[in-house]
Amino acid sequence: MRWLGPGVIALLLALAGCSSPSATASRPVPSASGTSTSTAPSTTTAAPTPTPLAAPAPVVVLDPGHNGGNGAHPEVVNAPVPDGAGGTKPCNTTGTATDAGYPEHAFTWDVAVRMRDRLTDAGVEVVLTRPDDAGVGPCVDVRGQLAGQVGAAAFVGIHGDGAGAGGRGFHVITSSLDPAGPQIAAGSSALAVAIRDAMTAVEPVSDYTGSDGLDSRPDLAGLNLNAVPAVYVECGNMRNADDATRMADPAGRDAIAAKLTVGVLAFLGR
Ligand code: ZN
Repeated sequence: MRWLGPGVIALLLALAGCSSPSATASRPVPSASGTSTSTAPSTTTAAPTPTPLAAPAPVVVLDPGHNGGNGAHPEVVNAPVPDGAGGTKPCNTTGTATDAGYPEHAFTWDVAVRMRDRLTDAGVEVVLTRPDDAGVGPCVDVRGQLAGQVGAAAFVGIHGDGAGAGGRGFHVITSSLDPAGPQIAAGSSALAVAIRDAMTAVEPVSDYTGSDGLDSRPDLAGLNLNAVPAVYVECGNMRNADDATRMADPAGRDAIAAKLTVGVLAFLGR
């Protein structure tokens, strides 16, 4: 958890742009009267024209599921944490892998980075729940609370499923507990539909779970504890040969990241 600090601090500093030296220096400062004052030099011909402040960039939290060091630290990832449903569940898990050994944590990290770059280019501020793919955790409850703490507009958890080899396709999950109230729940549903609609261009909807690419569950702490519209995307079934081929291929991951980004931007109205 401690290495979440710099990211959050950096974000807060970025959001506090009006007090940063660079932001202050770049903006013209209007005079109190709007025109030249009596103390201004006689050579002054016009007061600076105030420019409208740009609307703040929306913030999106991307949560790449699991982490590369989880497997080596069971004492950390098996510790119980609140599940947002009145019980507990393990801090985290190691995640799944393709039959050829490409791990889910590497998949989720790569897709998240590709999404981050696209969203940043589109003017969205992105916060990741982990800084790299070599650490342990953070726990699911910490991940689930981050979006609310940084004032995000949306939370997207990125995963790959480990279902039976015969099942194929992606699905988008929301919490079935309505934990943050009906307005946030409606936002989560809208986010899920926007991502589902975009993802169908690159991957079929799941033929083994959910309904038309959408599912809701009560057991996911990262969704139950969220204070903002939140989804998990199971981008495919890593145990299915067709899905595994796409998910282990950088071009396949890029296509997935591109469509996830389209969905997020549609949800944001950008
Ligand atoms: Zn996962």
